[in-house]
Amino acid sequence: AKSMQRAGHFYYSRSMGVEIRERVRMMHALRTAFGQNQLFVVYQPQIDLVTRRPVGAEALLRWQTADGKFVSPDKFIPIAEYSGLIIDMGEWVMRTACRELVGLRAAGHDNFTMSINVSQVQFRHPYFLEMLRRALADTGAPPEFVELEITESMAMEEPDLLIKMLAQIKQTGVSIAIDDFGTGFSSLSYLQRLQIDRLKIDRAFVTEITGSARGSSIAEMVIQLGRNLGLAVIAEGVEDERQAQILQSLGCPLAQGFLFARPMTADALNGWLSNDALA
Ligand code: C2E
Ligand code: CA
Ligand code: CA
Ligand code: CA
Repeated sequence: AKSMQRAGHFYYSRSMGVEIRERVRMMHALRTAFGQNQLFVVYQPQIDLVTRRPVGAEALLRWQTADGKFVSPDKFIPIAEYSGLIIDMGEWVMRTACRELVGLRAAGHDNFTMSINVSQVQFRHPYFLEMLRRALADTGAPPEFVELEITESMAMEEPDLLIKMLAQIKQTGVSIAIDDFGTGFSSLSYLQRLQIDRLKIDRAFVTEITGSARGSSIAEMVIQLGRNLGLAVIAEGVEDERQAQILQSLGCPLAQGFLFARPMTADALNGWLSNDALA
């Protein structure tokens, strides 16, 4: 009753109305923030589990509002997708990350890869391939060091479209990773038909590794699957040394997580890599 008094005309005040209002409010705020350059990209290093050296980074989008608070991408990416804003935002992330890759190479980190998340809304957009080609051409980013991450859930919808799209994307020279792998139910025969390069073990399965005796079975299965299909495998969300050691003993070549480094700004990444003499 209180909220009805405050809201005045808001008589139909049901959770649904509130949710839609909140979403619309956030959509406007996000559009404004994007227009005013309040979004930025951070980079989380990816590590070779044997040498413990950085081999690449994943670009992650950040939104810090005027009052200093961070809105989680898990919250604002769906809104960007729903409103279509993800098309421009995703292009901007792509170009920003490609420029950062070129900058890192100029600083001598020339064997370093850049992974970029791609939303299914972007991926389905007719302009996607041209956007990708242009981003590569305009920034001078070498395609063989650029990787696109698409989620497994996305890989399961419209298989024929996906197979065709992946073949075209591969022609640009970039690699493809399946993100959050293990959360969906892609069959082996389907995976074989996809031109992918890497599987990314979802954090949930990395967390399970140190739990029960059977906790590592999914991670183990993905690592084995990668080996059988000739795909690279990377574990995400590695938070402690025990997880890293188990993954390594299971033959997982790559990892990413707070144990090694948190996502950081471009400047911080440059410094972090330079301190790491051989990177
Ligand atoms: P994701 O692609 O699965 O990204 C990994 C998330 O795990 C990131 O969250 C990262 O900060 C977090 N993370 C990394 N290491 C650890 C760890 O050791 N422990 C824990 N607890 N978390 C860890 P973030 O940055 O909040 O991003 C969340 C999701 O938002 C991403 O999940 C991705 O789906 C989406 N996202 C972020 N940036 C972009 C973007 O530029 N485009 C698109 N389409 N989606 C994005
Ligand atoms: Ca990702
Ligand atoms: Ca992921
Ligand atoms: Ca995730």
